[in-house]
Amino acid sequence: DYRRGGYHAVRIGDAFKGGRYIVQSKLGWGHFSTVWLAWDTLMSQFVALKVQKSAQHYTEAALDEITILKQIAEGDPDGNKSVVKLLDHFKHSGPNGQHVCMVFENLGDNLLTLIKYTGYKGLPIHKVKELCFHILVGLDYLHRQLSIIHTDLKPENILLCSMIDPSKDLRKSGAPLILPDNKDVKGHVTFNGNVNKNQKKKIRRKAKEAAQGFAGKKAVESSLNAKSNADFPIDQLVGLASVNRSSNADAATASGKEHVGSKRGSGSRRRKTLESVDLKCKLVDFGNACWTYKQFTDNIQTRQYRCPEVILGSKYSTSADLWSFACICFELATGDMLFDPHSGDNFDRDEDHLALMMELLGTMPRKVRESTFNHFKVITLACSHFINMLCPFQIALGGRYSREFFNRHGDLRHIRRLRFWPLDKVLVEKYEFSEQDAKDLADFLIPILEFVPEKRPTAAQCLLHPWINAGPNSSKPRVPDVQSKVTDTGNSEKIKSVKERTEA
Ligand code: ATP
Ligand code: MG
Ligand code: MG
Repeated sequence: DYRRGGYHAVRIGDAFKGGRYIVQSKLGWGHFSTVWLAWDTLMSQFVALKVQKSAQHYTEAALDEITILKQIAEGDPDGNKSVVKLLDHFKHSGPNGQHVCMVFENLGDNLLTLIKYTGYKGLPIHKVKELCFHILVGLDYLHRQLSIIHTDLKPENILLCSMIDPSKDLRKSGAPLILPDNKDVKGHVTFNGNVNKNQKKKIRRKAKEAAQGFAGKKAVESSLNAKSNADFPIDQLVGLASVNRSSNADAATASGKEHVGSKRGSGSRRRKTLESVDLKCKLVDFGNACWTYKQFTDNIQTRQYRCPEVILGSKYSTSADLWSFACICFELATGDMLFDPHSGDNFDRDEDHLALMMELLGTMPRKVRESTFNHFKVITLACSHFINMLCPFQIALGGRYSREFFNRHGDLRHIRRLRFWPLDKVLVEKYEFSEQDAKDLADFLIPILEFVPEKRPTAAQCLLHPWINAGPNSSKPRVPDVQSKVTDTGNSEKIKSVKERTEA
């Protein structure tokens, strides 16, 4: 992907926007971009710099992302709506083309890292509730105030506001600041863009102040001169920062090496660290977001978090995010993905996905799977917003692809026998939840995992559910003017028989 149209090869110490942002370490990456911790010499703060791939469709996606991010930032001047804040954006030219760059407030680890950190065992329930509360605050803001659908909600796109291990946090670790172009920490800055004299002066002064403010004063020449490329391991840099302050054992913990999959010895330390982590989180990655009234594609969501209406090719709205939210909530609590479909010899991944859903939630109601009025649906889609306002029942019609999956009896075409295993039982039997914890979590999640999208509770309604509302968060300010009525769909009634699932 490091070729024309692809990623820009960023090096530690690289300067962006005429010397204003200096890259310190790698924070993460995705299919569209690489994301870097950078020092903002003008504002004297750490920021996250997202450098988009350069091909035209990535650039267009980034410009749409910026439009949405600006709207989000305007509506949230205090930054307390659990959504990441865009600070700046610009273009950067490199050997692979011109890359749109976005500058964000710097956040901590993503929730997948957190799940890995538990050894894929899941978080204590009170921590899951805390995270869910903040995710729902973010979703409620996007949905109700801005009519924005995130469309790619998944653990990688939700970030803690702090690092799991504070010694990994360059902002607090006392790590020496890396300045551009192999210059030293005294604040000598070189510029590679069009920066006027005043700006240069200001940047130089800020950089110098910043350098002075940092402990150590020993230049990290080694890391600057090291073959630091786009895959520069953050641990190497963090290791450097933490050597002086921690024992070898702690440094090993800081490097994260013993976290994933390691069971012996580290469990209690992990739990202890976890207890001290502030679990506020924010939603990031609006690269695929859209508005309810302006959608860009039918092909949304990452596979495991995809809702049934998208698989079936029906209309989707903000409730699609709620489905993903429920999948994430389950994953946080158990460490496992709720649905992880695979194709088989005679069925594809979509059909397996629908089968997994029905094994957990019961058969799909007729109106969701039937596509009798398909031709009519096409017309309604064409002028969907207007017509759906007038005839909201249309959205219950089956999707374009329904007939590919279901026969006229309502059975899947290739996967015939399904084994119903309801959520509360799964939680007890597979994940060793207590009966009470399982019932409570299932009572919260089952209405959100409703096949009929309009029957799903909204984020605002979820915030009022006792599973979220009672307990540690109950003293927090609630979402105002919410009509509370969480749908209980009586899911268990839907299952008539217990069947065994095999390939047809
Ligand atoms: P995707 O493949 O999901 O579309 P993407 O290329 O659009 O990803 P992002 O999801 O925005 O990129 O960012 C990739 C990763 O970078 C995130 O999962 C996260 O680990 C890290 N990251 C993004 N934004 C920040 C931030 N503001 N602070 C800290 N880390 C961040
Ligand atoms: Mg992402
Ligand atoms: Mg993205």
